Amino acid sequence: MDGQNGFAAIKMKRENKNRPESFRDSVATIDESGRRNWIYPTKPSGRLYNYRIYVSYLLLAILFVTPFIRVNGRPLFLFDIIERKFILFGKIFWPQDFFIFGLTMLTLIIFLVLFTVAFGRIFCGWICPQTIFMEMVFRRIEYWLEGSATKMRLRDQGPWNWEKIRIRTTKWAVFFGLSFIISNIFLAYIIGTDQLYKIVTAPVSQHLTGFIAMMIFTAVFFFIYLWFREQICIVVCPYGRLQGVMLDRNSIVVAYDYERGEPRGKVSKKESENLGDCIDCNLCVKVCPTGIDIRNGTQMECVNCTACIDACDHIMDKVNRPHGLIRYASEENIANNNPFKFSARLKAYSVALLALLGMLTFILISRPDVETRIMRVAGQLYQIQEEEGTISNLFNLHLVNKTFRDIPIEIKLLDTEGRIDIVGKKDLTVKGEESTQATFFIYLPVETLERRSTSLRIGIYSKGELISTAKTNFLSPFN
Ligand code: SF4
Ligand code: SF4
Repeated sequence: MDGQNGFAAIKMKRENKNRPESFRDSVATIDESGRRNWIYPTKPSGRLYNYRIYVSYLLLAILFVTPFIRVNGRPLFLFDIIERKFILFGKIFWPQDFFIFGLTMLTLIIFLVLFTVAFGRIFCGWICPQTIFMEMVFRRIEYWLEGSATKMRLRDQGPWNWEKIRIRTTKWAVFFGLSFIISNIFLAYIIGTDQLYKIVTAPVSQHLTGFIAMMIFTAVFFFIYLWFREQICIVVCPYGRLQGVMLDRNSIVVAYDYERGEPRGKVSKKESENLGDCIDCNLCVKVCPTGIDIRNGTQMECVNCTACIDACDHIMDKVNRPHGLIRYASEENIANNNPFKFSARLKAYSVALLALLGMLTFILISRPDVETRIMRVAGQLYQIQEEEGTISNLFNLHLVNKTFRDIPIEIKLLDTEGRIDIVGKKDLTVKGEESTQATFFIYLPVETLERRSTSLRIGIYSKGELISTAKTNFLSPFN
């Protein structure tokens, strides 16, 4: 991981002071015997923490309100993986649109990489639902119910008494209730609010599968926020684990200014020993929800929550030093005082991102309301109608309506003489959100056919307006 120069500088300074060699040789959440080291972070406070509260409340409001927003009676977003139906910004997408989904995912990944190369893990600290729920919802409730980090630690270590039973059962009940609400919201994104309402109001026996899904979701959230916590960011989240390959010396991350802070030491020795600005109070470590010491350099466990920035600024106020000993900064900025640079790597990602966005926009704008697939019926070559001087081929037609309204369809030959005869029912109206199939003959005059295979364009019309075209091949006996 980048920032190695900074780490090396700190390491050398430490060694010069004859400190024991323990530089980043362990994980904060695992003790020497390999067991979980429970983190009791001190409650953060400060300017950035307040901003994060406002951002979190806004994002939570969006998350909770969005499933209830309707566009023409339809949800704004729906990710119905069971019915394989997706609604984005009120527009419906089917499995046939999978390449749009793939392209959107690719665009998002490139955006995330670009954003990470430039601004590190800002996403984790400010936007990620895991951090927002953990730090801004469950952790705040925990402080409210249990008191300070020290009280929590002492209570954990102490015997079970009535007070501990009362506080713990209240906490578990509140956490379970919240997990239930969150699971309902996530389910609303998958099955829609109408279906969710049915599951919630009807007897369990009528919606056993939905009820089981809801309880599984609830149990997973309860487990994560009560016990697993920061381990999601440290051992599960692939984004966190990719930091090592995405960050470089110009990435802006939460960083300790070792040039200014080292050698660290107690305030009383600052003048006599010509020490740096870090007074070694350890508050930046105590507030860290992943238990790391940011003074050891950028680490995979850091979720950029900014708690250490606020804590250190608070200490700097007390010792009359400027803010920013821990701040958003790049290694280049700290080591060489260089400002942010739009590097060649960032430029390359930006070009790729713009190209993908352009492609995605074009595909979305030009996407037809009705997707058409025409294929010749398997095993059928051609039929000769000698009396009328035509040759016919039999085709299958598959129409998918990508809107919510019924669309009447007509099909006509483009660029060639001939006629189309639909077998069976003649009405080709496709109901909203549904698909339909039909079989039809194409008859072409013999004199228009010169080759064994003739390529045809078929126009798909609705109310007299051409809405899309489809291509197919017509077979004849001629070579
Ligand atoms: S090092 Fe600082 S920003 Fe990173 S997780 Fe810990 S407290 Fe948050
Ligand atoms: S909070 Fe600031 S002064 Fe205190 S140990 Fe951390 S970096 Fe040093």
